[in-house]
Amino acid sequence: MASSSGPRWRLACDRCDASAWVGASERGFDAWCEACQHVQSLAAPADPASRCARCGARLPAAPRFVELWGMLQHLDAVLAAWSGDATPLATLLPERPAFLTDLTPPVAAPDDPAALRAQLAALARGEWSAVLAAPAAAGSAGMRAHAACAIAHERDGDPAAAITAWGAVLDAGEDERARLARGALLARAGRLDEAAQDLERAGSSFAARWSRAALLVTAAVDGRTEDAEAIARARVEAGEPGAYWSDPTVGRLLFSLLVSRALATDESEPRHASDAERSRLRAAERQLEHDTFWDRALVLVGWVRVGAPDEAARVAEPLARAEAGALAAEPALAGATLAGVARALRDAGRAIAAGEPARARAALADALARDDLERFRIPCARCGRGTVGVDEVLEAFPAEG
Ligand SMILES: [Zn+2]
Ligand SMILES: [Zn+2]
Repeated sequence: MASSSGPRWRLACDRCDASAWVGASERGFDAWCEACQHVQSLAAPADPASRCARCGARLPAAPRFVELWGMLQHLDAVLAAWSGDATPLATLLPERPAFLTDLTPPVAAPDDPAALRAQLAALARGEWSAVLAAPAAAGSAGMRAHAACAIAHERDGDPAAAITAWGAVLDAGEDERARLARGALLARAGRLDEAAQDLERAGSSFAARWSRAALLVTAAVDGRTEDAEAIARARVEAGEPGAYWSDPTVGRLLFSLLVSRALATDESEPRHASDAERSRLRAAERQLEHDTFWDRALVLVGWVRVGAPDEAARVAEPLARAEAGALAAEPALAGATLAGVARALRDAGRAIAAGEPARARAALADALARDDLERFRIPCARCGRGTVGVDEVLEAFPAEG
């Protein structure tokens, strides 16, 4: 039966013979209660309404306890930011480069001169100095040789030389990738007008469209163009905003750039956000496309860094409440083996409700320091000494035989 096909996880204790499968089976679905650690067979895949026959805890469709430590870490970082230390949360945020490029090595053709083939092979191996030492080639081979040098210079940390080498590619002929790569380098160097000329001719790839959008947002933040109009044009250029946590979006970039600009304008410590900064950042907050943990975290880190603790608290309090609530609903925390963590979480919840992030953080310190959770494992209910973790993952259960 095709419906029984799906991923399967094997759970096992590292001290006793306790083990279980979770996932689709030939008969239906093998479930494992993360609270009382009871194995059970369901007729159909676990859904949000599925409950443990023994203790009544929610039965997950996939192992959830592996997320506990990451969730605790997120909550702790939010509480730290709320207390005025943005570093733990900033460390969790993804790097989203403002300007995208394409440094894919050029492909060698069978009838290429031997020197070019050797140069492109060196590029593929990451041997930058060998790439740059290769003799100059002519014609279409020359364009790829210059591109290889440009890529080697950029990978080697010499953007100025890379800009020159991309220029040599473009002297030999029009090339969208070279326009994109040089445009991104110029934009990162703050040479926005030259960057705009390149990016206009960089084609319609995602990287090209996004980099043009990023250029509009950058110019708007620099105060060179009318805000609302530039942002609207950037949105058209960028297209549908990606929802993935690390996708660049106009709103995410706008908020980040405004924070960077504020910090570059006034480096005093401790910092106090000006009224103008506050109103501009509040307006930028409304430009965010998504309301994910990562978007709220980006905003929270920004408010802490510019020195607006009241705004930081406004964002942090509901975020901490949501994270703590999600943790408290985790089935594993309903079990006896993690009762201490559940208790700590209730203490933290009361401190959050009282607006005391430092006390909430202190309540969670022992849970966050647990070695089993950090290794994505939970205490074994059978032997009481070992820990249970995911031993094996099968991507798809064979539907036949
Ligand atoms: Zn055990
Ligand atoms: Zn149970």
